[in-house]
Amino acid sequence: MAADRNPKLIIDLNKLRNNIDKVQNMCRDVGVEIAGVIKGFTGLPEVAAQFERCGCKFIASSRIEQLEAVKEYGIQTPLMMIRIPMLSEAADIVRVTDISLNSSVEVLRELNKQARLQDKNHKVILMADLGDLREGFWDKEEMLEAALMVENDLHNLELAGVGTNVGCYGAIAPTPDKLNELVAIAEMIEEKIGRELEFISGGATSSLTTMIDGELPPRINMLRIGEGIILAIDLQEYWGYDMSYLYKDVFTLRAEVLEVRDKPTHPVGKIMIDCFGKTPTYEDRGIRRRALVGIGRVDYGSPDDLVAKDANISVVGASSDHTILDVEDAGDIRVGDTVDFKVCYANLVYLTSSDNINKIYI
Ligand SMILES: *Cc1c(COP(=O)(O)O)cnc(C)c1O
Repeated sequence: MAADRNPKLIIDLNKLRNNIDKVQNMCRDVGVEIAGVIKGFTGLPEVAAQFERCGCKFIASSRIEQLEAVKEYGIQTPLMMIRIPMLSEAADIVRVTDISLNSSVEVLRELNKQARLQDKNHKVILMADLGDLREGFWDKEEMLEAALMVENDLHNLELAGVGTNVGCYGAIAPTPDKLNELVAIAEMIEEKIGRELEFISGGATSSLTTMIDGELPPRINMLRIGEGIILAIDLQEYWGYDMSYLYKDVFTLRAEVLEVRDKPTHPVGKIMIDCFGKTPTYEDRGIRRRALVGIGRVDYGSPDDLVAKDANISVVGASSDHTILDVEDAGDIRVGDTVDFKVCYANLVYLTSSDNINKIYI
């Protein structure tokens, strides 16, 4: 792709490394290692490599394809599968990754079988569901039994620890109580197996809040962090923490203006169903200057969270390949100019997975 082709996703690797370093130092101060989660940017290897440069303990993703790409790129950091594996991908999990999060006995047996066939040892972390109601053992006795099975019977698996995930489906907060529950499960297992577990993995970006509050139970020694490093928006915007020491603009979207015209703000004619099957409503603001840019829903998903860096430009709407901007208050914008946008997590996963977007690393 021509280096100057638009639209572009500009990725500032220096800013990213700053964010990784800052979060990692903060974690290491309290004895917590980071698994750097790369699914937010579709595992782009050039970006994932920054986690290795910064010395993260693990590089993690929910997608085996991304971990495979990162491995082929030459990354040596141990890889972690954080979506509980499908039975059908067990062989790939063992071949590509070093450690996986798990919650099914069937899958554990299959991982063990594949590890034996490949003459490997694969580490597993057993997930406890503490109320968020996504993945994880619900019954603590059942979890203990699975742990004992891994420890005693599945000789090509290594029981590396326990973990949990909160704040994803049930929007449950990582309170000290919840995390202490996880530590209690770990200690119950440790008592039965007669040794200490290597990892207690206490969640994702949202668990940083508990850590910053100084309330992370001391035995939690791993967090799996994506958003809080790559975008660093949630803790500031939703949780009210001061994250001013992290860059919020590692990623910038740049789109090119195709048309600039004064047009009505209310469609002219009988309003029917739009190309997405919806009957939209429009506010009539009279004639205003608008610019059309060459990027659309196919590239970034929903325009609802798309925000131009220039506060005088607003996103009016979008179809598959076009985005309409109100530039009435934005000074002189012409065909061929470019407009920069902030990128939210939902937009980022689309943008990074699209071949239509020119990725520029600076
Ligand atoms: C996505 C994911 C994470 C990382 O979440 P962030 O909010 O981006 O930090 C951690 N653990 C699991 C199991 C995940 O699926």
